[in-house]
Amino acid sequence: MGAPILVIENLNKAFGRVQAASNIDLTIDEGVLTSIIGPNGAGKSTLINMLSGSLPADSGRIVFQGTDITDWPIHRRVRMGLCRSFQVVNVFPELTVFDNIQIPVLTINNRSRRMLRSIFKETAVRREVNEILEKIGLVSEARTPASALSHGDQRVLEVGIALAARPKLVFLDEPTAGMNPLERVKILDNIRQLSDLGQTTFVIVEHDMDVVFSLSQRVIVLHHGEVIGDGSTEEIRNNPRVREVYLGEEVMV
Ligand code: ADP
Ligand code: MG
Repeated sequence: MGAPILVIENLNKAFGRVQAASNIDLTIDEGVLTSIIGPNGAGKSTLINMLSGSLPADSGRIVFQGTDITDWPIHRRVRMGLCRSFQVVNVFPELTVFDNIQIPVLTINNRSRRMLRSIFKETAVRREVNEILEKIGLVSEARTPASALSHGDQRVLEVGIALAARPKLVFLDEPTAGMNPLERVKILDNIRQLSDLGQTTFVIVEHDMDVVFSLSQRVIVLHHGEVIGDGSTEEIRNNPRVREVYLGEEVMV
């Protein structure tokens, strides 16, 4: 725990005249629950998109577990253990909760060709899906169509889908977006427990300050595509530049 898992060097991205990422230098440490915050348009999603491979960087380098992945396509990053979830819900609504998890588990297992006999494979896949359902607390909803879940549970399911790839590093883009306070508590407890298991490092993009300060071990603050703060929650609370950007937000006072 604590060793660098992802190193970002001088990353840049412009959309026309908007500099959405500006000379971003960051190191994400293994096992440290990290949040990326910043006002709307700060460049949070742009950064996640570049790191997960859905958006090419203009310049700079992304090094994951010692390997330069800057130009890698998404699926290669996923295979190496780098995943993300999206800001909008992204599940198959007509499929059951079980099947939503089973699809990525099957994909991963087929790819690795570790299990040749289909009967063994079936059992192993089922076991793995159930393990994930347990981790995310949706065992009793296994046979429920995803569309019948509450919005909060759909987002929880998305975390499960991301876990199916057995990721080393997961980016969650606003996992509590659109949730009520109860759902929020549930998913945050979930993420904290999963992080404590130590198999996956979580980086969360979030704008809710209560969430950020209660959950994170480290906070990175973006503003106009630049990193303006990086440290513990205490350091971020006391960072003058961050306070200036969030002036008036009661949680920072
Ligand atoms: P955040 O996620 O922090 O709200 P974004 O990364 O979505 O911020 O956006 C950062 C800036 O880049 C904003 O000014 C936004 O308008 C701009 N931007 C993001 N994506 C695109 C795009 N595909 N085309 C043009 N401008 C974009
Ligand atoms: Mg965003």
